Amino acid sequence: MAEETIFSRIAAGEIPAEIVYQDEAVTAFRDINPLAPTHVLVVPNRVIPAMTDVTPEDEPVLGRLLAAAARIAEDEGLSEDGYRLIVNCGSHGGQEVPHLHLHLLGGRPLGPMLTE
Ligand code: 5GP
Repeated sequence: MAEETIFSRIAAGEIPAEIVYQDEAVTAFRDINPLAPTHVLVVPNRVIPAMTDVTPEDEPVLGRLLAAAARIAEDEGLSEDGYRLIVNCGSHGGQEVPHLHLHLLGGRPLGPMLTE
């Protein structure tokens, strides 16, 4: 069993966050430091630390993350103009929180995928 993380504590309701969607597999909440008008984090309720830890057993929940992100994007009014999903992994990927998560960003043109 992976360690608790700040995100698993948010999913469990132990730390406050603005939760926009939750079911038995995933939780989505607004990023504390938003980089776009919509910046939502979509996380599995059960900790997977990073993409490098994914096993075949995780495939269903990974699908659930993407499906939840699409539904939240629709609810946020992003489907027409589009949006971006990002998964950071490890030090080169810039991952800060060791609990796999999708960043759902939208609400303005997001520019080039990488700036450097
Ligand atoms: P990473 O760099 O790991 O891909 O992204 C971590 C994200 O989590 C950052 O965008 C950061 O602002 C967000 N974050 C970190 N701590 C908290 C928190 O306690 N609450 C919320 N809502 N977001 C957080």
